[in-house]
Amino acid sequence: MKTRTTDETERVMDDLRNLRETFWVNPDAAGFRKGEGIVDPEEAESLLRRFAPFLAELFPETGNGIVESPLLEIPSMKAALEAGTAGIPNDTKALPGRIFIKCDHMLPIAGSVKARGGVYEVLKFAEETALREGILRRGDDLRKLGAPASKQILSRYRVAVGSTGNLGLSIGIISAAIGFSATVHMSSDAKEWKKRLLRENGADVLEYAGDYEKAVAAGRREAAKDPFCHFVDDENSADLFAGYSTAGRRLADQLAGMGLRVDRKHRLYVAIPAGVGGAPGGILYGLKEIFGDDVIVVTAEPTHAPAVILGLASGKGSGISAGDLGIDGDTAADGLAVGRPSALACRTMKTRLNGACTVDDERLFAFLGLLWKTEGIFLEPSAAAGFAGLLHNDMREYPPPDGNSIRVVWATGGSMVPEAEKQVYLSRALSALAARD
Ligand SMILES: *Cc1c(COP(=O)(O)O)cnc(C)c1O
Repeated sequence: MKTRTTDETERVMDDLRNLRETFWVNPDAAGFRKGEGIVDPEEAESLLRRFAPFLAELFPETGNGIVESPLLEIPSMKAALEAGTAGIPNDTKALPGRIFIKCDHMLPIAGSVKARGGVYEVLKFAEETALREGILRRGDDLRKLGAPASKQILSRYRVAVGSTGNLGLSIGIISAAIGFSATVHMSSDAKEWKKRLLRENGADVLEYAGDYEKAVAAGRREAAKDPFCHFVDDENSADLFAGYSTAGRRLADQLAGMGLRVDRKHRLYVAIPAGVGGAPGGILYGLKEIFGDDVIVVTAEPTHAPAVILGLASGKGSGISAGDLGIDGDTAADGLAVGRPSALACRTMKTRLNGACTVDDERLFAFLGLLWKTEGIFLEPSAAAGFAGLLHNDMREYPPPDGNSIRVVWATGGSMVPEAEKQVYLSRALSALAARD
């Protein structure tokens, strides 16, 4: 007789292979323990605080130099979802609890969740380099880095990254602002406006025909030859991960500031779009360190580009990719268009992530259109995936949301999308929505 787990794995793998929307419940999340020390979110937060006065100078739009986004309640979107628009896969159609959107699409510097990981990794490298070069001593005001003499020394160093877009934007913009040389390796089909924006900000953009993995491999090879080059490795970077993990405490403080408590009676349900899993994995890590089992987290990915769900459900982690199943990676959610999950993310998510789902592009656009119509909020397609996760928060393995629950959809990007591009997305979104009415 087959065990339930084997049946479940087969069902999910079969759905993934056939590009059907699916949902996987992680049987291992019950065994979660705090404090395995993979990264230290508090230490990362303290570096970000040290840098805040300097960042406030470089990026006045941050206000106090802390890169953070608002948490907004979306009651009209909630009502529309409850009315069944965009498709709710449960029978009750009720979404108990309050629904919020975590507005990382509004994060300064990069306009996406990548500002969390990318800014942290580059700042950490800047501090280490400055200490080594004698530009700074421990305890110094980091605004010293802005002095022309410091910038001149830092300009000998290069930060490189391979990216489909948003990570490149984040790394390129912050690196150039600090005074580093910056190289972004991109596949040639990456969005034109992202390449242009990077070049305008002083980053070098190198384009590669063929796929993203090739761009990353080329970047990694180049960087390994150059002792003055720091390569940001989206698939394995503990620094990126640490930067994302600070979001846990930040969200906890925001909730507390709104008078919302999270405990056994008031659970927090969070849904986050996933690409390689670094951003959602880091956020998940930070949240679980604070809330333990009182937070329930699911990821969402396009049916045409499953990575995290594939690595976790199959148990193969980064040893499997969507391409192995013949899945084409063809999705409008370009921030999620990767087929192989990060090894680091899979390792940390294995005992923490409660569930994972996939969503097809048409439904993604329906969410996008609905959010625009009901709340006037525009997201890029990748960022709307979280709504699919929200609708999958009802898992029989975990306590279901009730009237006391707080539900957060992590909106991961969109504010830097140029107007013309935005109109194209919105018209597709509104017709996807009309088709479901
Ligand atoms: C990168 C990205 C994600 C997912 O982050 P990963 O670290 O790749 O999992 C989600 N949404 C947007 C808009 C992104 O740019």
